[in-house]
Parts: sequence; structure tokens; C-alpha cells
Amino acid sequence: MPARHILLTGGAGFIGSHTAEALLDRGDRVTVLDALDFGYDAAEKRANLARMAGREGFRFVQGDLRDGGLLDALLAQHRPEVVLHLAARAGVRQSLLDPSSYVSINVRGTVTLLEAMQRAGLGRLVFASSSSVYGVRSGGAFDESQASEVPASPYAASKRAGELLCGTWHHLYGLQSTCLRFFTVYGPRQRPDMAIRIFTERISRGEPVRMFGDGSSARDYTYVSDIVQGVLAAVDRPLGHVIVNLGNRSPTPLRELIEAIGRTVGREPVVEQVGEQPGDVPLTCADISRARDLLDYEPQVSLEEGLRATADWVRARL
Ligand code: NAD
Repeated sequence: MPARHILLTGGAGFIGSHTAEALLDRGDRVTVLDALDFGYDAAEKRANLARMAGREGFRFVQGDLRDGGLLDALLAQHRPEVVLHLAARAGVRQSLLDPSSYVSINVRGTVTLLEAMQRAGLGRLVFASSSSVYGVRSGGAFDESQASEVPASPYAASKRAGELLCGTWHHLYGLQSTCLRFFTVYGPRQRPDMAIRIFTERISRGEPVRMFGDGSSARDYTYVSDIVQGVLAAVDRPLGHVIVNLGNRSPTPLRELIEAIGRTVGREPVVEQVGEQPGDVPLTCADISRARDLLDYEPQVSLEEGLRATADWVRARL
């Protein structure tokens, strides 16, 4: 595959920084656009960027996705072959507290990017969507042909809106847009609001963890290096407009997850059961047939291995 130039929005974040490193490792050039100041502590994002600083082909631009003038200048200057759009306000629970900010960044931000790409005559986008768009489902694996008309949180609705806008730009202007529905991604550098990181930190310190509901809700936890493999394959393959799950097809109930983290860090978890959280869904479980067919995607990392790598990172910071 010839080296490419990728514009990566949100590249200072958790998944974005892993993706940027993987792109650089294989010889691509990467320009990261990130505002740094949304969601959580900018110091963590600067630490992520520091891993890439000085590497050949890497450039960082601090700015807001919703700044159309900045996007015009960036796209004109760099003419990226592919735009990889990961910038967002992420997280279900926070989105119930501040829905407008999620719509502003995730919907207005995405449409601002689409408009700028159209003005620049750029035709390839890979967009980070989410398993949350499926809403409340109880049985069986989720496949992309199932309706997703009732996302259960403002965050989920904002991600579904992003997918729909990509489809519209494909219809109107022929944009090639691969929308990847990530299923609960974990690993080193995970966002501080995410359960695996919080549980690992608290259990390592001997502090109690809060378990929402009876512990039966299950998530299809997917290790970040597996997600990155799927993202890189999507960067390499123009597929028209398509929606593809990137998950693990192996949901783990919350109670089992907490026990597994306890085994990983060598401490018995102290669990406090609290009520269900509004916006949460009982199950996520990816059908990954389409990802296998279109992207040769095959997750490699077991939950045990992934939790160990995450715990090593978390404990080095405690
Ligand atoms: P993250 O918060 O670590 O990364 C997002 C980055 O976007 C941050 O660095 C943030 O500073 C940047 N950003 C936010 N608003 C911006 C703006 N207006 N302009 C420029 N930059 C801005 O989150 P993550 O967990 O790495 O998620 C990356 C993407 O994957 C997001 O689109 C998220 O919705 C999606 N996703 C993540 C998961 C997961 O489990 N982590 C699951 C499904 C989907």
C-alpha cells in the first residue's frame, strides 16, 4: 500500500492516538486536528501527543472541528487522501447532562467537516460511530441491517446523525464514507470516564466500585489494537457509503468484568450495587460478518490479555 496522508480529527484522544501511531508505523503521514479542551483533562491528551512528537510525517494542529475556515486552510494545505474523523464528545452518561454540547460537536462538527471536504473536492471519509446507535436490544448479535431509530441517549443520537449525514453526502456528492460502529473500546490511555479504567483504578487501590443494576448488563468489550486494525483497513479500502460494526462478538456481563479485573490486579473487588443508569442499554454484541467480509477484520486480543495490558498502564500511573 503506498504511503498516504491522513487528516485525523481527535487524534490526541484514546483511540485516535493509538490509530495515529499505527498509521505512522506503517509509513503514512498523519496530521492530527484536536481541540484538546473537550471531555477530559488536556494533560492526558498532550501526553498522548508526546508519543508522536518529532516522528517523521507527524503534525499536530490545535483547533476546533467547528471552525470551517480552519478546515478549509488545512484541507487546502495538506490535501489528505483520507479524512479519519474521530473527534467527538464521547460518553453516554455525560450526554444526558449536556446534550447541546454533544449535538454541537458531534453533529455540527461533522457537518462542518463534510462541507469543507466538499469545498476542497475531497472524497474519502472514515467516521467513528458507535454501537450505542442500536439502542435497547436484549438478544442476539446486532447487525448493521437492523433499524436504529431510537438511540437511547443524546450521544447515541448524535452518532446516528453523523452516519445519516455521511449517507446524505454520499447521495448528493458521491462522498465515500465508511462509518465504523465501535463497540466499547478499552486499553491503555482509555478515557477516564470509562468503566474498565475506573474499575481498574479503584480495585487496585482497594476502593469500592459501583455496579449499576444487578450486574447482568453486558458489553462487547473490544481491545483498542483490534479496533485500530479495522480502522486501518477502512482507510485502505474505498467502499462507497457503508456502515460496519467493529466489535468482538463476545459480550461480558458487568459482574464478570468486575471479577475479571479483580483477578487481573490480584485484589478482591468490593462492589456497591446502585440503580440502573438512564441512557445505558442492557446489551451490546456485534455481528462482525460484514467487517470480516469487507475489511478482513478479526479481533485477536482476549479479554484477559486486554485487561492485563490496561491494568499495567493504569497501575503505572497510580
Ligand atoms: P476521546 O475523547 O479520547 O477522543 C476524542 C478526541 O476528540 C479528544 O482528543 C478531543 O479533544 C477531541 N475533540 C472533541 N471535540 C473536538 C472539537 N470540537 N474539535 C476538535 N477536536 C475535538 O474519545 P475516544 O474514546 O478515543 O473516542 C474516539 C471516537 O470513537 C469518538 O468519535 C467516539 O464517539 C467514538 N467511539 C468510542 C468508543 C469507545 O469505547 N471509546 C465507542 C464507540 C465510539
